Amino acid sequence: MERVLAGIRPTGKLHWGNYFGAIQNWIKLQDQYECFFFIADWHSLTTEYADSSKIRGWTIELVKDLFAAGVDPEKATLFLQSQVPEHAELHLLLSMMTPLGWLERVPTYKDMQQELASKELNTYGFLGYPLLQSADILLYNAKKVPVGEDQLPHLEMTREIVRRFHFLTGKSIFVEPQPLLTPTPRVPGMDRRKMSKSFGNAIYMDDSPEEITAKAMQTLTDPARKLRSDPGNPEVCTVYDFHKLVSDKKTLEWADQGCRTAGIGCVDCKKAMAKNAIEFFKEFREKRAAWDKNDKQLFEMIAEGSKRAQKVASATLQKVREAMGIQWN
Ligand code: SF4
Repeated sequence: MERVLAGIRPTGKLHWGNYFGAIQNWIKLQDQYECFFFIADWHSLTTEYADSSKIRGWTIELVKDLFAAGVDPEKATLFLQSQVPEHAELHLLLSMMTPLGWLERVPTYKDMQQELASKELNTYGFLGYPLLQSADILLYNAKKVPVGEDQLPHLEMTREIVRRFHFLTGKSIFVEPQPLLTPTPRVPGMDRRKMSKSFGNAIYMDDSPEEITAKAMQTLTDPARKLRSDPGNPEVCTVYDFHKLVSDKKTLEWADQGCRTAGIGCVDCKKAMAKNAIEFFKEFREKRAAWDKNDKQLFEMIAEGSKRAQKVASATLQKVREAMGIQWN
């Protein structure tokens, strides 16, 4: 099986944007590829370095969510980046040969600095985070990396680094990773901006039925549909976007038709979406609640996954050290 690597930064529990935008795909990938999934806690430090007190708690929440969502340690290796220090060493070694301009021109570097303007991100660690991502990928010689369009420049930089390393050392060690572009649905937040914990517009995978219903009621509809008798347009309605994620074809047709003909009201439509969402995440909520009582097993599984990952990572790093002439044992 070809090897795939994917990581996620711990920012707390998973919301629908994380699930439908990435994790649902991970669950499928683990049946088709040899998957290495990791919690990128060092990447969190690039933006949370001033107050890192929450990262541990966020990591635990995230691991529980991932297992409850269906990441299966029998099929995939789930590990914690900071438990495999080879990531840091490869990052350092690659940094010696990576031109500064390559990092400065990564488009998300400037975008993220603007997006997170309240944080001081003029740091060495933040500039270098795409290179840490390259190290993450190359340690496992992952052939495929599931990425969104916005991550393509990072992957292209990783391929350039592979070519540069091979040219400078004369040793061919790394696989040039290819993108695994999977169509993922656009998941807006309740207010139609991007779903994000920091915007306060997220619906979480473990939200209770009451929370889901309350959030459905707050979700933006077609702004032009002011009266119950006005026909609406589901294409500009966030509730309908959510229907597409959790409802079956029959309900989608009911909502589409009812909206366009003013045959249904928005409250009915929201209630139907909430009912389907409650059902969709029922199994997840049950599994998640079980994980809340099982911290010991959780830590054991993470340690086991990290050990498995480290075996692969240290074998790659050994070759890198040899190629760079700094292998002493
Ligand atoms: S009826 Fe449904 S799809 Fe139409 S605007 Fe209201 S909530 Fe949105």
